[in-house]
Amino acid sequence: MAITVACACGKRFGVAEKHAGKRVRCPSCGGPLDVPAVDPPQPPPVPPAPGPAPVAQEPPLLTPEMFAPRPDATLNDLRRIGERMLLILRWIVALLAILTIRSCLPVNVRF
Ligand SMILES: [Zn+2]
Repeated sequence: MAITVACACGKRFGVAEKHAGKRVRCPSCGGPLDVPAVDPPQPPPVPPAPGPAPVAQEPPLLTPEMFAPRPDATLNDLRRIGERMLLILRWIVALLAILTIRSCLPVNVRF
């Protein structure tokens, strides 16, 4: 396993691992080259950083935005529900009013 070293002259080349920590001669310019020492003889390949799962390459067919109701739709729904509740409430009030009036009226009065 060669060690890649870069010379000051700009050349890059691999140096045999037996030269690690030693000074070699650049074959291009003849200048001295310090080969970095390799502490672990064979560093294990760096595994992919554990973090967020890899993002799917293709976009999903269904996105949450598709199911999220639009603001105006929500407003319309709320308005419809409110109107329905108001109608029911009006019916209840009317029924209560009729019952109250009937109970307050003399018993012999017929509608
Ligand atoms: Zn050189």
